[in-house]
Amino acid sequence: MTTLTVLGSSGGSPTRTNPASGYLLTSGATSIWLDAGTGTFMALSGHMDPGTLSAVVISHIHVDHCSDLFGLYGYLAHGPSGNVPIPVFVPQGAAEHLSAFARAGEGHVFHTVFDVTEVAPGDEVDVAGTKLRFGKAIHTVPALVTRVETGDAVVTYSGDTGPGSDLTGLANGADLLLCEASIAGERVGDTYPYHLTAAEAGSTAKAARVRRLVVTHFANGVDPATAVVEAKDTFGGPVDSAMPGASFMIEEER
Ligand SMILES: [Zn+2]
Repeated sequence: MTTLTVLGSSGGSPTRTNPASGYLLTSGATSIWLDAGTGTFMALSGHMDPGTLSAVVISHIHVDHCSDLFGLYGYLAHGPSGNVPIPVFVPQGAAEHLSAFARAGEGHVFHTVFDVTEVAPGDEVDVAGTKLRFGKAIHTVPALVTRVETGDAVVTYSGDTGPGSDLTGLANGADLLLCEASIAGERVGDTYPYHLTAAEAGSTAKAARVRRLVVTHFANGVDPATAVVEAKDTFGGPVDSAMPGASFMIEEER
């Protein structure tokens, strides 16, 4: 069974009750942390020993998706430690950016605890038998869409993206699409092009013929319940909102 647990789903910054973006995907002994947004390291620690993570995926270097990588860094470098190095997959240009924050020159402990690999759209990697495929997200910095194939389930995560990304292709036939829905209401000509509306999340889910949709990355002014209604309208299938602490279990049905 594959389980997706929401560590946080607040867009842009954490709130008092909801960390920024972060999800834990588990299947058997494999545990993958999808985005290390602000506040999610603590939430992750409530579910597992972070030192036993199989891999971390950072969709892009905005702080609401990567800041808590440094929580894990401190845990591994100075704390109880773990199974190091832990593989960390990041978009192009992000490896240098992240290691610079840790002032990590050659031989620095940052490179002992993390094995950071930059991936590009079209790349595929294997983590203990779980396949990760990456696509292009449309955002203000290099950003990734991630498809995870665990062997018994397919989960696709949008990261932050506007329309025109590889999301529909990478979500094709997925059991669960975890899709950002940062913008309330309808898109008009001058709507910010680097995020999706809930209706667009729904139409992406429909085009990709996914089994279920979970909307996330709720920014200021977006009511998760309204986002669910708007996404259901264009999808026509089951839609949930990614509330912190929620777990979505995907049973094998094939
Ligand atoms: Zn974001």
